[in-house]
Amino acid sequence: MAVRERGGHKYIFVVGGVMSGVGKGIASSSIATLLKARGLKVTSIKIDPYINVDAGTMNPTVHGEVFVLGDGLETDQDMGNYERFLNQDISSINYMTTGSVYLSVIKRERNLEYGGRCVEVVPDIPLEVISRIEKAAETADADVTTIEIGGTVGEYQNILFLEAIRMMKTRHPDDVATILVSYLPVPNSIGEMKTKPTQYAARTLNSAGVFADIIIARAPMAIDAKRREKIALFCNVKPEHIISAPDVKSVYDVPLNFEKENLSQQLCEILRMNKCSATADLKEWEKFVAKSKNGNKEVKIAVVGKYFDSGDFVLSDVYISVLEAIKYSCYALGAKPQIDYISSREFEKGKSLEKLAGFDGVLVPGGFGETGIEGKLKVIQYVRENKIPYFGLCYGMQLMTVEFARNVAGLKDAHTTEIDGKTAHPVIAILPEQVEKMAKKAYGGTMRLGAYPCELASGTVAYEAYLFARGAQAGGKKSVSERHRHRYEVNPAYVERLENAGLVFSGRSPDGVLMEIAELPKSVHPFFLGTQFHPEFLARPLAPHPLFTAFIKAAVNRKGKGA
Ligand code: GLN
Repeated sequence: MAVRERGGHKYIFVVGGVMSGVGKGIASSSIATLLKARGLKVTSIKIDPYINVDAGTMNPTVHGEVFVLGDGLETDQDMGNYERFLNQDISSINYMTTGSVYLSVIKRERNLEYGGRCVEVVPDIPLEVISRIEKAAETADADVTTIEIGGTVGEYQNILFLEAIRMMKTRHPDDVATILVSYLPVPNSIGEMKTKPTQYAARTLNSAGVFADIIIARAPMAIDAKRREKIALFCNVKPEHIISAPDVKSVYDVPLNFEKENLSQQLCEILRMNKCSATADLKEWEKFVAKSKNGNKEVKIAVVGKYFDSGDFVLSDVYISVLEAIKYSCYALGAKPQIDYISSREFEKGKSLEKLAGFDGVLVPGGFGETGIEGKLKVIQYVRENKIPYFGLCYGMQLMTVEFARNVAGLKDAHTTEIDGKTAHPVIAILPEQVEKMAKKAYGGTMRLGAYPCELASGTVAYEAYLFARGAQAGGKKSVSERHRHRYEVNPAYVERLENAGLVFSGRSPDGVLMEIAELPKSVHPFFLGTQFHPEFLARPLAPHPLFTAFIKAAVNRKGKGA
């Protein structure tokens, strides 16, 4: 679909008004999905207003999941939404924080690249933002690029990004559109949808020299004609450019709802993208959404983690990619997921492990440090002995190895050196290249990150899973690529002893040194498998992950056999 002359990219900025948490990320992902469905080449950018250079140093209970891109950048969970909705990989040039932008500018200044002139916050910071946006569009060869700006208009923190929009619009007047995702509260005491906060948000945006082309009206319910007129009048947008966006049960409904509001057509007209296809082809998406609602076999999955509780609130966002990956595989198998979050610390405080017998599958996701470890080890022992399907991701695989070493291979007191540097049996040990980095306290962006190949051993549970799910596309290939984020590994010195005790390393790095997948054979356990990598980062609605699907299959088979 030839839409543009070379370089004639279109840009859609998505900013938030009134309050955070109203779904800017899902709105951006949905807009991108619709434009892709109109035959355009799309890519998506996220800008975070933090000083952190990437999201890797932020505690997930504060910021949510750290999502790792294929090329290794640790980013915000919204990047995961983009990749999942678009079903395409996104490059690290598409993620930036205030910290990373300043870092580039300061490095350039230190290298005398500004030719001795005074380097200033304005325009040099917005210019760096713009150059990254343009580079991302070029890299992806995108017809359209969506750019989500973190935070809410009116915050001191993101004003420089609004300035970047203003400057960008001056540079490319016909190629830039701005969408304000706002919120219309319906206070209980009044019982009426209020537009005033949105009016203020639009004015605040205007005071930064940026004017919304479209307003997405997030609210508990659909917006009525009267309020649509009011917002149109006070915010200078056409009534048809106000997109009703009521709360939904599933985020996957959002693209379909936006399309009912004619959003992709409005955008195509505003940006004069008149060569895109006349309608959005959402057939595959619709099929996926239908499947997500029609599953009838209920499967109960326990996710045993440590980052769930913050005060009185449960934070499922910390493991969002894991939860979504479980759902996609369930939908593909006609199953209805029922996911429970269990804090492993509860088992340390004496909670009965018997509770786990009521689940069809148990998953231990990635993590760091000591909290809740002994609880996780107890859980893993219980599900191994009671033949409950188990899936361990990264730390979940390392702890599965520790548990197996202690209780099956007879290596009493085996541990990971992350917790016990003096253990008699360091079955999990630091990767050699990490030692120096830790000594220098170089923590940021230094883990083994991003996509690496993993060679599968034939006849194993992992091999069968990949072959079954991706056989046709992969042509039965024995090598897969998966994303990583870790500093520790299965200690090569213990591989033989663990294998002799019955643990199978069914995936290894091509040089054979790094154990990527550990499992027990099907004859011993219905599904007991762990991955050093994070398969959840590659699970997509339209392409569920093979290992998740194998895990859920085992869980469906157990169904009814549990308590
Ligand atoms: N803490 C472990 C490591 O650094 C596991 C990391 C993870 O689960 N992402 O190797």
